[in-house]
Amino acid sequence: MPEYDFDLFVIGAGSGGVRASRMAAGFGARVAVAEELYLGGTCVNVGCVPKKLFAYAAHFAEDFSDAQGYGWNLAGAGFDWKRLVENKNTEINRLNGIYHNLLTSAGVTLVQGRAQLLDSHTVAVGEQRFSAERILIATGGWPFIPDFPGREHVISSNEVFFLDELPRRCLVVGGGYIAIEFASIFHGLGCDTALLYRGEQFLRGFDQGLRDHMVVTLQNKGLDLRFNADVAKVDKQADGSLRVVLKDGETLETDLVLYATGRRPKLDGLGLENTEVTLDDKGFVKVDADYQTSDPAIFAVGDVTNTIQLTPVALAEGMALARRLYRPEEYLPVDYADIATAVFCIPNIATLGLTEEQARAKGHRLDIYESRFRPMRNTLAGNQEQSFMKLLVDQRTDRVLGVHMVGPDAGEIIQGLAVALKAGATKAVFDATLGIHPTAAEEFVTMRTPTRKD
Ligand code: FAD
Ligand code: NDP
Repeated sequence: MPEYDFDLFVIGAGSGGVRASRMAAGFGARVAVAEELYLGGTCVNVGCVPKKLFAYAAHFAEDFSDAQGYGWNLAGAGFDWKRLVENKNTEINRLNGIYHNLLTSAGVTLVQGRAQLLDSHTVAVGEQRFSAERILIATGGWPFIPDFPGREHVISSNEVFFLDELPRRCLVVGGGYIAIEFASIFHGLGCDTALLYRGEQFLRGFDQGLRDHMVVTLQNKGLDLRFNADVAKVDKQADGSLRVVLKDGETLETDLVLYATGRRPKLDGLGLENTEVTLDDKGFVKVDADYQTSDPAIFAVGDVTNTIQLTPVALAEGMALARRLYRPEEYLPVDYADIATAVFCIPNIATLGLTEEQARAKGHRLDIYESRFRPMRNTLAGNQEQSFMKLLVDQRTDRVLGVHMVGPDAGEIIQGLAVALKAGATKAVFDATLGIHPTAAEEFVTMRTPTRKD
């Protein structure tokens, strides 16, 4: 008789947990996964997928406007928020079903409910008790909203996907991925949208050229961007609208306040105190390079650890851990260098490798290639919006160190270039590559003269 009920008990069926469970079961391990809310986790239910669907919905506003220059008459186009939310829910239900099938057909035992660690080898889910040789914590993150009077009147990204009505006016607080994406979505869907960020300029950590370009682009679209601003309190008024008082005393009237001020690891009630698992100084589960916590029987991957909070990262970590535990001969550590990422605002931001500021801090002498241009599609549309592209090249080695873009489909374009950077492409390789004409992407292989040189 085996000593434990399972070889691996996974807590959380999100990106990291599902991937680790399926892979480990495929390698012959006896695996269970507990999930308290929804199969597929944040990404599928309240993250990447519904966000991208909403971003598509928001984009139609510009498409309809641009279409007129191309000869289309679209009088009478209207938007139905309820239909969007219903159709989105149907699609997410379909994906939940696919996740269910993927797990069960891989032989993974699904346990519905909140899991709590009783000791290093025992998990409780409701009245049930499960023992396991190893346990994986893949509980992800949860939106963080700071404390202030009236906090109960604001929402987070968890609620934004299920609003009964589209607000007429909305205020987004934060300056990271979710704030910029949702400011774009609300604006595109016709809300009078303001974005409030506590610092000098949003998108801290992104390339400065890209940040500057994005400020101008969003302002030209009509978004009300407020920097060096923070909320002091929020009052609900008799008509249901919200009165937001800022720390400098200014007031704003709005119908919805969305807080997008980061996420924290989801650890409440998990029972870590019954194990040897420790946290780092930011409150994430502490792991070594092999995802082992301070407890030899317990591992952690994804957003619950201090990693880059992206689905492909959680997936890669889940896969790497399953291999390390059950197929060590195939184990490959995750390569965290040059991870491409996109902000799905309108237009997209996509970024890869080092920013100009990071490259300089590392001591690189740079040739910088920048291009601002009006994409061809905008010409007949009468749309003045410009795209921005930037390449950072190391003068000594000719290696391309960073690629940054603001423009339609930037996420799709930069994904391909990520392969080139992984392969160590030099500027000479970019120059030797023929473009696909006419595209916006060909600009990346036709920029010949640096706009700036060190
Ligand atoms: P999660 O996917 O959060 O999964 C954790 C799971 O554990 C959840 O299902 C939770 O219910 C469950 N759980 C927690 N505690 C317990 C418990 N005690 N018992 C049982 N179950 C438990 N990333 C991208 O790459 N691209 C994007 O476009 C993108 N967009 C995003 C948009 C939004 C609005 C948000 C919030 C995130 C977005 N992300 C995006 C980030 C991405 O969703 C996360 O990085 C990813 O989901 C992390 O995966 P994970 O497995 O670590 O955690
Ligand atoms: P981010 O970390 O991207 O941004 C958080 C923002 O909130 C920052 O601008 C931060 O400001 C600000 N902030 C933090 N604390 C406070 C506070 N107390 N008061 C006011 N402002 C505050 O988090 P998000 O919530 O946007 O997203 C979480 C993560 O999910 C992202 O980091 C990303 O990894 C992932 N994600 C990925 C997406 C994608 O791939 N397209 C889309 C959405 C999310 P400051 O910069 O000054 O610290």
